[in-house]
Amino acid sequence: MTGAAPILRPDTVADTDPSRWLKLGPVLIAGGGIGGLTTALALARREIPSVVMERRSAFSEDGAGLQIGPNGTAILRRLGVASALEPDVGVPGAIVVHDGRDGSVLTRLPLGNWIERRHGTPYWVAHRQDLHAALLGKAKSEPLITLTLDAAFQNADRISGEGVRIQTRDHRTWTGSTLIGADGLWSSVRQGLFTSAEPRPTGISAVRTTIPVDHKLGAPWQRDTYVYMRPDAHIVHYPVRGGSEIAVVCILHTPTSSQDWSTTIDRAWVEPQIAAFPAEVRKLLATAPGWKRWSLFELEPGHAWANGNVALLGDAAHPLLPFLAQGAVLALEDAVVLADCMASHRDIAEGLARYARIRSERANKVVAASRRNGRIYHLDGAMAAARNLTLRTLGGERVMAGYDWLYGWRA
Ligand SMILES: Cc1cc2nc3c(=O)[nH]c(=O)nc-3n(C[C@H](O)[C@H](O)[C@H](O)COP(=O)(O)OP(=O)(O)OC[C@H]3O[C@@H](n4cnc5c(N)ncnc54)[C@H](O)[C@@H]3O)c2cc1C
Repeated sequence: MTGAAPILRPDTVADTDPSRWLKLGPVLIAGGGIGGLTTALALARREIPSVVMERRSAFSEDGAGLQIGPNGTAILRRLGVASALEPDVGVPGAIVVHDGRDGSVLTRLPLGNWIERRHGTPYWVAHRQDLHAALLGKAKSEPLITLTLDAAFQNADRISGEGVRIQTRDHRTWTGSTLIGADGLWSSVRQGLFTSAEPRPTGISAVRTTIPVDHKLGAPWQRDTYVYMRPDAHIVHYPVRGGSEIAVVCILHTPTSSQDWSTTIDRAWVEPQIAAFPAEVRKLLATAPGWKRWSLFELEPGHAWANGNVALLGDAAHPLLPFLAQGAVLALEDAVVLADCMASHRDIAEGLARYARIRSERANKVVAASRRNGRIYHLDGAMAAARNLTLRTLGGERVMAGYDWLYGWRA
């Protein structure tokens, strides 16, 4: 196994006395998405109780795919979630990178056994709903976790070393030891307590679907992750739900932005945008049952992530462009480091400050690498030719070895 040195020594627990947390009160987690649920599970593993407060009236996730690198699957294993998810995942053998202008294969980036041997845990592709359901199932079985719906964080009226008191939009009051903002890109916790800066539209949209597999279409689509790169656009697809569906994401430069996490769009809007891609990928996409669009936003890094007994986590702390497929995985990493820091510091504010220091350094690096990847995907002219030549001559293993710092991370 290769990769970064451990950031925290395992189980550096200074205070495991559960009655301490009974006195202090639970950790209040605003947001029951992937980040919020994982935080609750990681805290429970450290015997710290939490209340997950989700603004929606049902726990649910959108229909879209997620790639989970070995740094993410290591955490799912550690939290006991991997076995529930495993029957539904795909384990691609490679990322097959194509020039999206002529359909030629530029390189095969090895995944499968190669990456599992290198990092000790697999590279999975999964449906978001399946990951969320596996986390939720585990959280429901955990006595230290309370799950609450229709609980939209509105504001905090008391934050001190003694704890926090917050209000939800329906005027209920909640008290706890700590507040964690895991409430996503448009985080109310971040905007209310950390920075009023708003995420900035990038002019890029992710247009997504999942396609039930028609076995007549051909087997390779059910095995690997495919990438097609063109100037200003790229398409990625990979198998999910045990190979019975193909998750597709088209990254397009589009003038409009919507704050909606997902907006339904018409096939007639999508087809002209992908008309220049090779026939093989258009043939697959023509079978899509429907499309949704996510406008992509960026937030300048640099704002604080922790202040006293409050901290941010996941997209609330560091929204990132999806060109490294690491946003959800970073939220998993945040969650375990946060729990380790809270368990290893008697003073909550000190634990959260340490969490923020460790994680902001890592997240800033991934945010920058993700942005860089997006530029490389969309190169044109001589720069695209140079990229293609590099990919063809370097070999997939050497390219993937360049990501050891990413996939080899362990808490
Ligand atoms: C096109 C695209 C492709 C992606 N692909 C990948 C990938 O392959 N791999 C990967 O790792 N990541 C990927 N990501 C990133 C990933 O989806 C996000 O980083 C991840 O969902 C962040 O999780 P989160 O829990 O921080 O936020 P969210 O998933 O946004 O969850 C936030 C939760 O908080 C709730 N909430 C909001 N406001 C409040 C409030 N005031 N009070 C209470 N609850 C509230 C929301 O309802 C939601 O349930 C992709 C993203 C996009 C857009």
